Amino acid sequence: MDLPICDVCLQSGMLCKGCENKLKTGEISQMELDIAKILYNLGDGQISFKKAIDMGNVAIIITEKDQVGKVIGKGGNVVRAISKEIGKNVRVIGAESDLKSVAKDILAPARISGINLVYGIDGEQKFKIRVLKEDASIIPSNLDKLNEIIESLTGEKTKIVLDD
Ligand SMILES: [Zn+2]
Repeated sequence: MDLPICDVCLQSGMLCKGCENKLKTGEISQMELDIAKILYNLGDGQISFKKAIDMGNVAIIITEKDQVGKVIGKGGNVVRAISKEIGKNVRVIGAESDLKSVAKDILAPARISGINLVYGIDGEQKFKIRVLKEDASIIPSNLDKLNEIIESLTGEKTKIVLDD
């Protein structure tokens, strides 16, 4: 299955040269390693993910769309085990999801009131994502970081603003 480290390492619990190198160079993070181990153990090697993003209190796991349900688990049991192990709230997002659903997942529990395309004076296009003002205090991270994450997931430039 598609995990950031190889099967040999997952089975032995030790890192081979190749995977150790990936960790050293930052190609994979310790958190991704921890998540891979849990998914491997709980899913009998049948659950995969592409990468995980650390947002502070929240970790986002990116996986193929057809794997999202498995990473969440029955009644959320898999996601809960991951959350317990890494000490963060966990969100699971399908790779290549559209901007609207990525933005919704990334910003939750804050709610989006609208998204529209705007053009800067330089002609650059950006999606303006408006968040309900009353949800300002529950936005999961700082706005620059969230814009960055959404761009890395969708390839779209965004500007998150509070609705007024
Ligand atoms: Zn390895």
